[in-house]
Amino acid sequence: MRILVVEDEPKTGDYLRQGLTEAGFIVDLARDGPGGLHLGSTGDYDLAILDVMLPGLDGWRLLEGLRRAGAAMPVLFLTARDRVDDRVRGLELGADDYLVKPFAFAELLARVRTLLRRGARTPEPMRIKVANLELDLVRRRVSRDGRTIDLTAKEFALLELLMRRQGEVLPRSLIASQVWDMNFDSDTNVIEVAIRRLRAKIDDGFEPKLVRTVRGMGYVLEAPAG
Ligand code: CA
Repeated sequence: MRILVVEDEPKTGDYLRQGLTEAGFIVDLARDGPGGLHLGSTGDYDLAILDVMLPGLDGWRLLEGLRRAGAAMPVLFLTARDRVDDRVRGLELGADDYLVKPFAFAELLARVRTLLRRGARTPEPMRIKVANLELDLVRRRVSRDGRTIDLTAKEFALLELLMRRQGEVLPRSLIASQVWDMNFDSDTNVIEVAIRRLRAKIDDGFEPKLVRTVRGMGYVLEAPAG
């Protein structure tokens, strides 16, 4: 098992490398953000341990860079700041766990083993494409045939759901619960209205038409065969 450690404090870095090596892992140590990004995006690691405060590129941006480069290993953040917003930010960016400094090595080792058991997860897609329609999940942008399309937040969420599950007929009740966080109420036509607006933006004036109504069942987004 190969672990990437990115830590600029010499003592902590050496201590982590030595401890993890003695525990049977192969450890590569980078002392700054850019070095960590280089190793992490070119090497094949089972886990990365990232310090938050790093020279060159902080831990958050390092993680974003790694994910963008397609590195899907689980990530454990080391933070000196026990602040809830730091933790939330890390988890939002795709960190799997975090540990507040100073920590006991036994605690770190336990977290490392848990993350390794859980295994590498499937990387989140950065963009989804169906025919010439493209959804950029990182920048929250939509384009068709290279032309940018402005969507409201709800329309974006609706399109994201349809595109993530392309080819699947999605019942109104599922769309209601996923996009509007509500139970489907047969009196409301909010979904039909939203679908109509979405279609006007992404399908009108473009070929092929991607969003279809399946009568009595729901909606599907797919590229027509052939
Ligand atoms: Ca640091």
